[in-house]
Order: sequence, then C-alpha cells, then structure tokens
Amino acid sequence: MDFLNLKDISERYRSELKEAAAQVIDSGYYIRGPKTEEFESNLCGYLGCKNTVGTGNGLDALKLIFRAYIELGVMSVGDEVILPANTFIASLTAVIESGLKPVIADIDTKTLNIDITAIEPLITSKTKAIMPVHLYGRCCWDEELKSLAQQYNLKIVEDNAQAMGAKSAIKGFGESYMCGALGDAAGTSFYPVKNLGALGDGGAVTTNDDKLAEVIRALGNYGSEEKYIHKYAGVNSRLDEIQAAMLCVKLKYLDQENARRQEIAEIYDKQITAKQIIKPLLSKNGECVWHQYVIRTENRDKLMQKLGEKGIPTMIHYPTPVHKHEAYKELNTLTLPVAEKCATEIISLPINPAMSNQEAIIVAEAVNESC
Ligand SMILES: *Cc1c(COP(=O)(O)O)cnc(C)c1O
Repeated sequence: MDFLNLKDISERYRSELKEAAAQVIDSGYYIRGPKTEEFESNLCGYLGCKNTVGTGNGLDALKLIFRAYIELGVMSVGDEVILPANTFIASLTAVIESGLKPVIADIDTKTLNIDITAIEPLITSKTKAIMPVHLYGRCCWDEELKSLAQQYNLKIVEDNAQAMGAKSAIKGFGESYMCGALGDAAGTSFYPVKNLGALGDGGAVTTNDDKLAEVIRALGNYGSEEKYIHKYAGVNSRLDEIQAAMLCVKLKYLDQENARRQEIAEIYDKQITAKQIIKPLLSKNGECVWHQYVIRTENRDKLMQKLGEKGIPTMIHYPTPVHKHEAYKELNTLTLPVAEKCATEIISLPINPAMSNQEAIIVAEAVNESC
C-alpha cells in the first residue's frame, strides 16, 4: 500500500491530461496565455470569487498577497500577522519573507486548526491580518473570526493550500461559502499532492478585491502591467500554460475526488474503534475535504512502528510546530502547549481518491490491532 501514489491519480485522467498538454505544445503559448486565462476563470466560477491570479507556487501566492497589501499601504513592514502553530512551514515563511512579523496562536484540539478564541489576546496596534489555515482540508471559519476581523479592522488571508473544495457552514465576507473565497484574499497551492494538484509547481491567489488582484498580477510579473514599465519592485512568479491545462482537467473532477476522500473518512470513522484513538470530527456538509486524515493517540510512535511492520504507511503532519524550528530561533522560546502536545500525538493515515474501500478497512483494522 502507498500513502499516496501520484501515478495512480494521474492514471485516472491520463488521456485527457495528455491531450491537454498536446494542445499547449501545439499552441505556442507557454506563459500567460489562453489556458491560464481559462483556468483562472474556471476557478473563479468554482469558488464564486471575482479574481484568480495564477502564481508559481503556493508560497508565492501567500507572499504576493502580503506584498500587495504593503504596496497598497494597507500594511507596513514590521506589522503583525496572527497564524496557527500547527501548519506547514510555508505559512510562516510567507509572513516572514514579506517583511511582516509572525504572531503564533495555539490550536484547537477538536479541529487542530487555529484556536479562534486564542486570537483576540494576541491583537496589538500592529496587527494587520489573521491567517487561518484550513489545515488537513478542514475549513477554519466562523462568526467569531469574522467579527474579530471587522472589530479590529484586520484582513483575513486564508492559507487554502490544503482545502480546495471545502465549504464553510456560514458565508464569508462575500457571497461564497467556499474556502478560498471567505476572507479578503486566499493563497492556494497546486503542488502535486494537494487535493487540486498540478503536475508540477503552481499556485494562485483568489480574491474579490479587484485592486489587490491587479497589484498581485503585476508583482508576479516583475512589477509590470505594461511591457518594460516597472511600476513595482516585482518578482517572477507565474502559473505556466502546461500546468494551467492540467488544472483545467483536474478541476472538473475535484468534487468527485473530494467525495471519494469523504467516503474513506467515513469508513475510518466507522471502523476505527480502539478507545485509545481520537478520531477527527467527521465532516457532514463538506466542511472537510480530507487532505489528510489525522488521528491522535498517546502512543503515537509505537502505533506508527506497528503499522509500518504491517505494511501500512503513515506520516506525521507536522512533527514540529512552526515556532520550534531551528531556522526560526527567535520563535523558539514561545510556549504553545496544545500545539506542542498534539505534535507528539498526531498520525496521518493514508487517504486519497485512488484508495479502495478494502484498503481503508485494512488500515482501520491494523490501527485497532496495533493500539
Ligand atoms: C503546500 C502548502 C503551502 C505551500 O505551497 P507550495 O506550492 O509548496 O509553495 C502553504 N501552506 C500550506 C498549509 C501548504 O500545505
């Protein structure tokens, strides 16, 4: 059994992907061409948002949002952004590399997402944004988060790298319920293992803010709106035509693939019965698209080893909270007890659209036997 075999995922759409790649090869447009436009428009339609700007990867998407807010005078270098301790390092990198100061919040044991009740005490006069991360594919959005942002005049920048297709129970700032269209802007990643994965690097910013989108599009193209006129000190970060073509194909099947992930999560929820295991909340209305299925147990290392011996691959997302990495020494003295404890208990079971029900049952039984 594989944790995730990308070849099995591509295999499902093989002929369509090949045809789409061939069309790009024959078109002569490889960067900023019609496929990128088509994909950007399709993603806007899917999310119910006004703008999608393709970027080179997910990290750049998040960075370009902050860079653009700085260009627009909404934020200044040194301002603070509140983000969760449990996330992939890129969420933190995006804040730091944009010249902003990360303020790390603890997490909620029920969702393993940011603890929304922990945010308000962290707000200072320098706070300009909250970055909820829809981690493991689980939507992180509620009335309290919305009203905090409104009350303190903060931007909400969603890290939507893991939750394409997930829905909130309540509307965002616009009319949409979709993760990626809830806050002021969202960065997403099309890294191949994501729920909406390309066949290489890719990312996008999605936003209802036209001005922000315009600045981001320019910033990602050397700060230029018009050839050889450089309005901003920009970078090179663009989605390419081949990846956009792959994504046009894969977006059509995203809901189907997420539904399949949901079925596997339901099997796990029903079949994992060992009382030592804390299972994730089962998603009822599409609020989780199961990028990962993460259980918790006190004997995590033992469970992981026993599962390995039975041929069941597992992973840990993530073994170290973002404030405890050697690279970011200035954060190391922080203590965020919930995130730190959870990091020792979490274990991700295989979940992907190419898995069979039978495989999910085998995994669940192995978990029950290995506790
Ligand atoms: C994957 C990921 C990113 C970064 O995306 P890249 O395309 O790898 O740059 C950011 N945040 C989270 C939560 C991710 O999982």
